[in-house]
Amino acid sequence: MRKWVLSASAVALSVAISQPSLADVTIDDIVNDAKTTEDVVSNGLGPQGQRYSPLDKVNTGNVDKIVPVWTMSLGGEKMRGQETQPLVKDGVMYITGSYSRMWAIDTKTGEEIWQYDARLPEGILPCCDVINRGAALFGDKVIFGTLDAKLVALDRKTGKVVWKKKIDDYKKGYSYTAAPLIVPSKAHGPLLVTGVSGGEFGIIGRVEARKIDNGELVWSRPTIEGHMGTLNGVDSTMTGKKNESWPGDLWKTGGAATWLGGTYDPDTKLIFMGTGNPAPWNSHMRPGDNKWSCSRLAIDPENGEIKWGFQTTPNDGWDYDGVNEVVSFDLDGTKAVGTADRNGYFYVLNRENGKFIRGFPFVEKITWAIGLDDNGRPIYDPANRPGDPTASKDGKKGSSIFAIPSFLGGKNWMPISYSPDTKLFYVPANEWGMDLWNEPVTYKAGAAYLGAGFTIKPIFDDHIGVLKAVDPATGKIVWTMKNNAPLWGGVLSTGGGLVFTGTPEGYLKALDAKTGKVLWKFNTGSGIVGSPITWEQDGEQLITVVSGWGGAVPLWGGEVAKTVAHLNQGGMVWTFKLPKSLAAK
Ligand code: CA
Ligand code: CA
Repeated sequence: MRKWVLSASAVALSVAISQPSLADVTIDDIVNDAKTTEDVVSNGLGPQGQRYSPLDKVNTGNVDKIVPVWTMSLGGEKMRGQETQPLVKDGVMYITGSYSRMWAIDTKTGEEIWQYDARLPEGILPCCDVINRGAALFGDKVIFGTLDAKLVALDRKTGKVVWKKKIDDYKKGYSYTAAPLIVPSKAHGPLLVTGVSGGEFGIIGRVEARKIDNGELVWSRPTIEGHMGTLNGVDSTMTGKKNESWPGDLWKTGGAATWLGGTYDPDTKLIFMGTGNPAPWNSHMRPGDNKWSCSRLAIDPENGEIKWGFQTTPNDGWDYDGVNEVVSFDLDGTKAVGTADRNGYFYVLNRENGKFIRGFPFVEKITWAIGLDDNGRPIYDPANRPGDPTASKDGKKGSSIFAIPSFLGGKNWMPISYSPDTKLFYVPANEWGMDLWNEPVTYKAGAAYLGAGFTIKPIFDDHIGVLKAVDPATGKIVWTMKNNAPLWGGVLSTGGGLVFTGTPEGYLKALDAKTGKVLWKFNTGSGIVGSPITWEQDGEQLITVVSGWGGAVPLWGGEVAKTVAHLNQGGMVWTFKLPKSLAAK
């Protein structure tokens, strides 16, 4: 909310003057988003999640000339991690910010059109900073999730609330930070698809689809076996089979949070959603695979049924959430997906049936598994799993191990990009490890449910962050850009042969997509943990990123957190382009 009082007539006047005409965002706009360069109407620059734009006006030959066009401050005392990906439609940019805020901004001037503040209650339980990762556009609405586990649909013109729906009880640990996904369905029309956050609190992960007009639930699919799904207000089918891969009652508070949201492939008509760690972290309490925790699921938008599942870390004992985004791409004629896991392995799967094609490490020195078998299942070494506390002398602490990667992952939430030009994935990753041990724990609603202690530590002297160019056809790492601090921002690739990403040190960088050479960098004044976008306006190519240091690393990073303690917080939107005289050349 604005901090000063304007007269009602002044507010109305400013809205009337600054508003361009807004056409409804259609399901075709969303399905075709990757190809249309004048707008960005979905998270991932297309629901497939490639984060690739064919725009080539800014390219390897001239990117060193781009300059800021405008900036905008998110203001206030709420300068925390800004993990948003902006959306752009009809001259208006929509961004979300820390503490569940949203803005509409004039894309020509950077002036604020409206701001919405969710005004959060006391006692919210976000695990990993008060961040938000972006909104969804549909029709005349812009929709996002809040830290008190609600979905809010706003009128795109005015920022006024159209509807608000509770996902679940924030006092039990539920929250929401992912960008919602819009998908088509034959049976129900376009649907709003979301998950839940709160995997560290023993919540129940699920995927939900809602009507966009009013937010009413259409179907729900729990991600832990034994729980019942719903369709049109009645029970549908159970996920898996009760107690098949979970002992006793632990599945009732089993986690598997769907906290990063999903992607959608219009070709196979499947929703892809990842699931987080099983709860608690202490794996000795829940022998078995613990399905569908640490997995990728393909879900039918028509009824919420699971078409296939692929589990990356069965019986996870390291907090290797399997939530990371599933990106559709063409692998020499095979309908494939690529996904870079917290556990340090990159997986290539057939997206029609979930069949494992190949998997390979994208970070160095992995210890938790010896490798992957022919089906992509990890080969465990029991010596590298933290010990059972009940086997210790006093029963209070199991044997400690040093595991690589750390629980913050070979890759965490920050989205990868795929370029159909180079046929490479660009993976923002981190090379670090952790001391990890297990402790006894019992479930209590609204309390952290881990049963583990940990300290994250660097493993190299010269870097933690690594941006890697990964060849999904061979498993080769084509190039690596090292970074001192852990990388925590998303990646964009373009038809201009460029890869854009931000660093905690504040730089937005443009690299040569083929070689990894840094061609341009600009310091935005605070760390970048958001995802850049590019779009076209009046014949010019623009690049936008939101800057503002924060996220999980300063809160959970152990010894690593000390090394980034000097980085300054912020909250600024930055937009760049070529100067007019150069753009014309
Ligand atoms: Ca587009
Ligand atoms: Ca987790």
